[in-house]
Amino acid sequence: MSHLVGLSPSDFVGFLRKEKIRRFYLVYDPVQKKVKCSHPQLQPLAEFLESDRRDFAGHEGLFFQVTEKHDTLQGAFVHRTCRGQAAGGVRYWTYDSVEDYLRDGLRLAKGMTHKSALAGLWWGGGKGVMARRPDVDAENPEVRRYIYSEYGRFISSLHGCYVTAEDVGTTVADMANVFSRTRYTICVPEEWGGSGNPSVPTARGIVCAMEAALEYMEKGDLRGKVIAVQGMGNVGGPLIRFLFEKGVRRIIACDINPRVVDSLRQELTGRDLVAQAISRGDEAIFREECDIFSPNATGAILNPRTIPQLRARIVCGAANNQLEDPARDDSALFDRGIIYVPDFLANRMGIVNSADEQYGYVVNDPLVERHLSRDWEYSVFPTTLRVLRESKATGEPTGRIAVRQAEKLSLEPHPIFGHRGRQIIDTLVAERWQQTI
Ligand code: NAD
Repeated sequence: MSHLVGLSPSDFVGFLRKEKIRRFYLVYDPVQKKVKCSHPQLQPLAEFLESDRRDFAGHEGLFFQVTEKHDTLQGAFVHRTCRGQAAGGVRYWTYDSVEDYLRDGLRLAKGMTHKSALAGLWWGGGKGVMARRPDVDAENPEVRRYIYSEYGRFISSLHGCYVTAEDVGTTVADMANVFSRTRYTICVPEEWGGSGNPSVPTARGIVCAMEAALEYMEKGDLRGKVIAVQGMGNVGGPLIRFLFEKGVRRIIACDINPRVVDSLRQELTGRDLVAQAISRGDEAIFREECDIFSPNATGAILNPRTIPQLRARIVCGAANNQLEDPARDDSALFDRGIIYVPDFLANRMGIVNSADEQYGYVVNDPLVERHLSRDWEYSVFPTTLRVLRESKATGEPTGRIAVRQAEKLSLEPHPIFGHRGRQIIDTLVAERWQQTI
């Protein structure tokens, strides 16, 4: 394997500096089935992608730049743009190696393709990833302003094949800095005309997915049910409120932040809420006797250690990438007879809420509300039912079915713009984008 992918992102930036490379790309040629690279020195990265069977899936284009100050590696991963521009948030995270960095971007970008396609949105899938350096004070507002406005400039240079948004490690204030340099972003702050915090719609989407899973199991609706909720934050909190409104009997909830637990407990006095502040690593919530287990904290929580502990028959929550290993853990849940509602199906309302923000606002926007209704074919409820029923009919786990349905939809060309993202990428290559800095 290439020595380049084994480097830490900081050492890799050192290598790029030595080679005088500030921008570079890796673009897939679907005819020759080859990854084209902007610089011969970086050919090992192209070979790494070509030989990878796990995370590289013919991603249309990967673009990178190194910031002038603070030496930060910034990337835009475009997976597929048949349905429209590649959309997905920008993550600012620490990575041990270039390989980890690339794999995270590849996997997350593909996940966004699936999420948007299954939701019937005319968006493609992409993701931004910036590598956090140990020697850069990322809490310093000046540093952040610089890094995010440079990211905005980078996104502008990509001519709209990728539209960025908020993600882990990125705040609304950071998005304002991105927006100061590019129009190709969503999740713009509300006071600047953006759609604001999507957490409440996300919680509503989770409720719809839970209702569909109950209907599929012929268990009626949420009335009288017991739900275990892991994580009581921006999504978990509203979710708990909505579930009580729907008549659930009891909610058992936990969070590692005692303040969040106390405040919800006080607000919901009189309700049967058993909420606990726990220490990280406490797995008691997995063993609760309940109808639905709802993960709303962090990813990779469903794995060979936790799946055998589950006593719920349904798993449905907002946390991204709940399966530690998508194929292995999807099958393990299926084999245990647990109905797993794929996270990217249930938690789509985050992207839905911001998807149309450039087209203005309507109170109770029908384009948002229809996702929560039952009479549109791409609503959360019927989509969940379709996935669960196909899983039963074919004897395959739900995650695999959802990905298959999403893949098919993601190849449909945009009804007006066709496969324009690909055209933009081809233009960037032809015009030597790598020299535009
Ligand atoms: P958040 O940070 O507001 O809430 C997460 C909560 O989980 C926090 O209160 C945190 O203290 C708690 N937590 C962390 N580790 C825990 C653990 N081991 N056990 C119990 N609690 C723990 O984040 P959020 O916006 O509510 O998002 C929750 C999840 O849903 C994330 O995985 C996020 O990526 C995903 N998601 C969110 C949205 C959205 O609209 N906010 C949309 C799609 C997906």
